[in-house]
Amino acid sequence: METLALTNAVIIDCTGAEPLEGGSVVVEGERIKDVLAGPPGRLPAGAEVIDCRGQTLLPGLIDGHVHIGSVEAGFTEQQRRNFTSVLVIKTVKNLKEALDQGFTTVRDAGGADPGFRQAVAEGLIPGPRLFVCGRVISQTGGHADGRLPTEFHRPVEHAAGTASGIYDGVDAVRLAAREQIRQGVDHLKVMAGGGAMSPADEIDTAQYSLDELKAVVFEAENAGKYVAAHCYSDRSIRHSLESGIRSIEHGNLMTEAGARAIKEAGAYLVPTIVTYEKLSTMGRDFGVPENNIRKIDQALEKAYQALALAQEAGVKICSGSDLLGPMQVYKGTELELQARVMGPMGALMAATRTNAELVRQSHNLGTIEAGKLADLILVKGDPLRDMTIFQDYKAKISLIMQGGGLYKNSLG
Ligand code: ZN
Ligand code: ZN
Repeated sequence: METLALTNAVIIDCTGAEPLEGGSVVVEGERIKDVLAGPPGRLPAGAEVIDCRGQTLLPGLIDGHVHIGSVEAGFTEQQRRNFTSVLVIKTVKNLKEALDQGFTTVRDAGGADPGFRQAVAEGLIPGPRLFVCGRVISQTGGHADGRLPTEFHRPVEHAAGTASGIYDGVDAVRLAAREQIRQGVDHLKVMAGGGAMSPADEIDTAQYSLDELKAVVFEAENAGKYVAAHCYSDRSIRHSLESGIRSIEHGNLMTEAGARAIKEAGAYLVPTIVTYEKLSTMGRDFGVPENNIRKIDQALEKAYQALALAQEAGVKICSGSDLLGPMQVYKGTELELQARVMGPMGALMAATRTNAELVRQSHNLGTIEAGKLADLILVKGDPLRDMTIFQDYKAKISLIMQGGGLYKNSLG
């Protein structure tokens, strides 16, 4: 097995420990063998050495909420305008782009099937390790129903991109859950409330009955999986928690009671502030209709307050981007935005350690510790002083390692 040592780095291991100055990380095969403090005198003989002097070593970033198959700003329109082949080709480009930004793992929150996970795992295409949910499960008129209020055709199912399905009733959602599980997804995703980018609902609404949500959770748990729910309002959060849903996506409209409920349930919150910021300022340029921008602004207005309430309540807070189409290049901005509320270390740990917990990979991912997979990034500068480093990723991320393999090394 090849041994490689990254020496003289400032190591932020994201366990919650203080940064380690002048430390070394020894990588053997695909895993971290050792983390050494002080001068690298104890390096294994024959190790290839990469001197990281003056730079900061971090665990590979994890994006807890992506739509890797989102290729345009409008997630329903793109499905009408693109052949499946084009959606797949553009998804492949999104995967490479995510890895280029230092995200060595992502959790897809709707659209990507397990084939993309397989293609990355087999090394067919560069991309982050993937955790997928396949098609999103949505009710008629729900957040994944792309029909305008004036349209009466049946919902159309798609095979790629931001694929979703419309299912009503306990039997139908049960079948939908079983079908995704049959295909080998890692988790399930339901729309438990209205959404900003959908054409026929409002963001403060709740969607699905308790019976339907419970049926999805029951099927997921039977198969050892969990369920993520798109929610903004307290009502949709409450229904989700009562049904046993493990992760609340967005949560922008939550009150103190909602935050406390998430904490008491031991569920995760996945804020996705950057997508509201970007859609609010750039959405019109990408053709997003006014009705959607109006709802985006409603969600943005409460986004920071919701995060602060969750932080005060002691909720386990993750980090997601939820960026659509061409805006996916701004993934790293979420860290800066969450740092405004959680502080820089809080935002870093959300995007590493807590996101690893979210995808049930604490034993493999999320921190720089012996025994874990060697997913590492090296950045020029100190993210604790400047969280915008991740936005200038082409220049400022000098090394990206995934499972011990060097994807990028500009140290020469
Ligand atoms: Zn959502
Ligand atoms: Zn989403």
